Amino acid sequence: MPQAYPITEHKYDVIVVGAGGAGLRATLGLAAASLKTACVTKVFPTRSHTVAAQGGISASLGNMAEDNWRWHMYDTVKGSDWLGDQDAIEYMCREAVPAIYELEHYGVPFSRTPEGKIYQRPFGGHMRNYGEAPVQRACAAADRTGHAMLHALYQQSLKENAEFFVEYFAIDLIMDRDGECQGVIAWNLDDGTIHRFHAHLVVLATGGYGRTYFSCTSAHTCTGDGNGMIARAGLPLQDHEFVQFHPTGIYGSGCLITEGARGEGGYLTNSEGERFMERYAPTAKDLASRDVVSRSMTVEIREGRGIGQDKDYLFLHLEHLGRDLLHERLPGITESAKIFSGVDAAKEPIPVIPTVHYNMGGIPTNHHGQILRPTEKDADALAPGLMAIGECASASVHGANRLGTNSLLDLVVFGRAASIKAAELIKPGAPLRPLAADSADYAIDRLDRLRNAKGGSKTSEIRAAMQRAMQDNAAVFRSSEILAEGVKKIDDIAGRLPDIQLSDRSMIWNSDLVEALELGNLMACARATMHSAEARHESRGAHAHEDYPERDDENWMKHTLAWFAGDGSISLTYRPVHTWTLTGEVDYMEPKARVY
Ligand SMILES: Cc1cc2nc3c(=O)[nH]c(=O)nc-3n(C[C@H](O)[C@H](O)[C@H](O)COP(=O)(O)OP(=O)(O)OC[C@H]3O[C@@H](n4cnc5c(N)ncnc54)[C@H](O)[C@@H]3O)c2cc1C
Repeated sequence: MPQAYPITEHKYDVIVVGAGGAGLRATLGLAAASLKTACVTKVFPTRSHTVAAQGGISASLGNMAEDNWRWHMYDTVKGSDWLGDQDAIEYMCREAVPAIYELEHYGVPFSRTPEGKIYQRPFGGHMRNYGEAPVQRACAAADRTGHAMLHALYQQSLKENAEFFVEYFAIDLIMDRDGECQGVIAWNLDDGTIHRFHAHLVVLATGGYGRTYFSCTSAHTCTGDGNGMIARAGLPLQDHEFVQFHPTGIYGSGCLITEGARGEGGYLTNSEGERFMERYAPTAKDLASRDVVSRSMTVEIREGRGIGQDKDYLFLHLEHLGRDLLHERLPGITESAKIFSGVDAAKEPIPVIPTVHYNMGGIPTNHHGQILRPTEKDADALAPGLMAIGECASASVHGANRLGTNSLLDLVVFGRAASIKAAELIKPGAPLRPLAADSADYAIDRLDRLRNAKGGSKTSEIRAAMQRAMQDNAAVFRSSEILAEGVKKIDDIAGRLPDIQLSDRSMIWNSDLVEALELGNLMACARATMHSAEARHESRGAHAHEDYPERDDENWMKHTLAWFAGDGSISLTYRPVHTWTLTGEVDYMEPKARVY
């Protein structure tokens, strides 16, 4: 190990990496269970991407009209195009109702009905009575729901005396010779020191990897760092081919206009002024599931009914809702429309286009958040000492397509579940297994190599090539030819990583080095996405394959697992979808055609 990196030692019961909604909810639960907990985060907690979540969080409270968690479960299974694990979906939808009341008690200022109940708005794919008609299920704090949640959860975590290591960048996991996780190595961006966090358990809550694409709604920090660490630890990434395009990114900037805007009565039109969603989804119309709306929009644009000089966007209309309603329920997006497209939403329609928004796939886990290391004998075998929650994980509640408002729900339900499981497994203060003398070497060697890299390509150049390849070759519609080309392209681009060039050798606030570390993680995510997509010969949820336009339950109702070998090669295996439920209160929901 290079001598220039003195290590500061820390011992905890549990380390949480990430302070978004998932990481904070887990941190809070762990600390409340008297486990000595450290939360390590590369950005200040309330700057995590969760802060940008606008539209809401789902639960069948039934405050606006009758609702039922079984309907919510059915919608989620159907939304997932039957790729979701039904035990985990059942768990999430049942737990949703107490989760909302818990958030309310933690201090989230939910919008209210005139009688003072939590207000709920409609959202895509959420229906009453097993798909009959849209239902109002999304609880929201105006259009700043994530912001409100993050602040409440951070304050509650502080109250429970959780310790935060803010602006610490986690580089790699500490894995022992038997493949058990013993902690994580992190770099303090502020003073350049290296820290070894030794613990019984590491909970990854590092968020999504939207930045693999050129145009996305996610923050610049959404770089799949946890997924990268898992890939390097020899563990698989699940279902990365399923990338959600949100129907309404603002044309040009990619900034999100929440689906809550359509929930409140907004609708889409093409160049002929036609409300085209009525043709594609006669019942749910503009509130069909996101993959369905994004595909319909792409077809409209392809068939020449796009708007503008290049006929490459569509209109989202909110002007008929009136200034008062926009002010009360959608103030943030009214502002975004003004800033990012110069449009006064109370007067004119907003130009929109499908934009990368969410990663359904991620680190495979069970419904307690425990990470899976499937073997031939046991598809649900566990990777000891490791959990993953939130967008970096694949529990898998979203399967091939996520319903709007189900992610914020996923964060709090599985953040809580992980803390409950950890409290069962770990006795506070129990002695830690000793570390090997070289436990930090892998991470520090990698950091040191990057820091001193003197190759021919800047981080930004390799990243731009990757983002272009993903945008061009793993888009809304895919084909065998485009994906085969994509695999070759992305592998070639990944091959340029050893040729990276860093100009700044400092250890203090070296954003060049941060971006190079992030690029390594993004690249693992991008390659898993492209390889997994190329291999999946069917269309399901967000994976729309033009050469295989039908869903194929006989051959493909299974999760993809992408494994990285030491030489960088990827191999794919598969694991069966969970077709059982946890309680006798609901049965397995058989696959059906997916119409809205
Ligand atoms: C614009 C936008 C609007 C959305 N609106 C909604 C909505 O209305 N409803 C809904 O259900 N979903 C919504 N989503 C999706 C949802 O917000 C996200 O899926 C969710 O917030 C992700 O939360 P998370 O806790 O998993 O990760 P994040 O909130 O992304 O947090 C990740 C955390 O990990 C830390 N981290 C990452 N890498 C490292 C590292 N190497 N070292 C240390 N720390 C690290 C970061 O510092 C951060 O604290 C929206 C998403 C976007 C982008």
